[in-house]
Amino acid sequence: MAARVLPEIISEPKKKTILTHRQGPDRSQRIRHIVQWSFVALNIWLGAQFYIWVRYFKHGGQGLYLPRPAGVEGWLPIDGLMNVRYLLLTGRVPAIHPAAMYLLLGFLLMSLLLKKAFCSWLCPLGTLSENLWKLGQRIFGRNFRLPKWFDIPLRSLKYILLGLFIYLIWSMSADSLGGFIDSPYGMIVDVKMMNFFLGMSLTGGIVFATLIVLSILVQNFWCRYLCPYGALMGLASLLSPVAIRRDSSACIDCSKCSRACPAHLPVDKLVQIRSAECNACMACIAECPSQTALQIALPGSTGLGAKAHRRRLNVSPLAMAALLAYIFFGTVMIARATNHWQTNLPRSVYMRLVPNADSINDTGMQ
Ligand code: SF4
Ligand code: SF4
Repeated sequence: MAARVLPEIISEPKKKTILTHRQGPDRSQRIRHIVQWSFVALNIWLGAQFYIWVRYFKHGGQGLYLPRPAGVEGWLPIDGLMNVRYLLLTGRVPAIHPAAMYLLLGFLLMSLLLKKAFCSWLCPLGTLSENLWKLGQRIFGRNFRLPKWFDIPLRSLKYILLGLFIYLIWSMSADSLGGFIDSPYGMIVDVKMMNFFLGMSLTGGIVFATLIVLSILVQNFWCRYLCPYGALMGLASLLSPVAIRRDSSACIDCSKCSRACPAHLPVDKLVQIRSAECNACMACIAECPSQTALQIALPGSTGLGAKAHRRRLNVSPLAMAALLAYIFFGTVMIARATNHWQTNLPRSVYMRLVPNADSINDTGMQ
């Protein structure tokens, strides 16, 4: 697997190139940031609504009531994976947290079609990570890079974590999965997660603070080394027909793309980026001074220069934003239309479980 996730290097002879300057300013990063912050705002809204819903049940049905927003299940990737496995084993969509499964499948579809764009365009943790390393650049004038001998094995950590989750879930039978999903713990795992973050222990706080500091110092520390969700998206992205493609006949070998790449990929040395680390952020394209040297595009160039550029189908930043929105809202609409969006548990169940969430363990004991 390690060999597959490393970029494929196709070397080319160097040649003198006359630069064709950009015809206008690059808008990719502005559009991406708008999408990122819109998704952060959506998640804050979902989080606030969920908090009010939980508080209502904690107070025994007193105070303001808002319906439970199913979208919070996007924060339950393990539930999503368990539900996918349950669906594969039984052909039935689980009644508890079906939105977790639909959202996971929607994000996987994004990765299959558009590289790991979920990470750099939508994921709120990716947005937080990006802003933390940018803060680090403002404070220290640079970010720090781990030495290669440490960086490469550390990068495999997220794949190991992902493998562990998949192994544990895939080794469960349909009955055990169903038993877990339908248990009191499975029903309110979302409430437990919120309680964990709102009442974080000292140990949890130290771990969280350490991750923040490391994310300020090292670009995308969490995403690059630890996030199993990103690892899954990265593996799916290897099948994506879309990739960053460089036209060497229009490239002046200035290396601005490589310097801008937060994944430290040698963009200026490759004709296409196949790495699972590429998150389609387009930062390399934004920095490229050439009009046609660097694009995120479908395959299809057989010639060189302007001719090759014409024959490729590029994904513009606006098209990327539109496609991501289309997949996201399409997924939600399909889940709603098939009545697989909301978890429909009786109110009495939540009245009993939510106030006692902290004392319910994964065996369902209180
Ligand atoms: S800068 Fe380019 S190569 Fe690097 S992660 Fe972003 S899109 Fe991929
Ligand atoms: S930024 Fe990269 S692709 Fe663009 S001209 Fe410079 S080296 Fe070539």
